[in-house]
Amino acid sequence: MTDCLFCKMVAGEITPDTVYENDDVLAFRDINPQASTHVLVVPRQHVATLNDLDAANADLIGKMMLAAAAVAKQEGIAEQGYRTVMNCNAHGGQTVFHIHLHLLGGRAMGWPPG
Ligand code: 5GP
Ligand code: ZN
Repeated sequence: MTDCLFCKMVAGEITPDTVYENDDVLAFRDINPQASTHVLVVPRQHVATLNDLDAANADLIGKMMLAAAAVAKQEGIAEQGYRTVMNCNAHGGQTVFHIHLHLLGGRAMGWPPG
């Protein structure tokens, strides 16, 4: 995907503030953080939205979750807790159409979400 912001980060054309990476995912700090820890976990493979995930690439979600838990430990927020969120399309609030998991922590999160 030549016109995708997160694909450009995965390809190294744009350099984010990376905190974790492995063969499957890249994790970097959100440019507009909503908590003291706000990291985006992005699969290297382009999948536009959760609606585009299928059985062939569903394992990506587990890998993203494992990466988020690893980053939470690394950031020192694992014990106090954190939130993981994946927004989908307009009502979910998705603005970048390459799936990503938000990892938010460092403060207590409200519920229900806005
Ligand atoms: P969404 O709204 O799609 O769930 O989340 C997209 C996230 O990407 C937003 O939290 C937004 O702040 C973040 N974002 C947008 N552009 C950039 C960028 O250029 N760099 C980084 N690090 N984050 C970005
Ligand atoms: Zn992409």
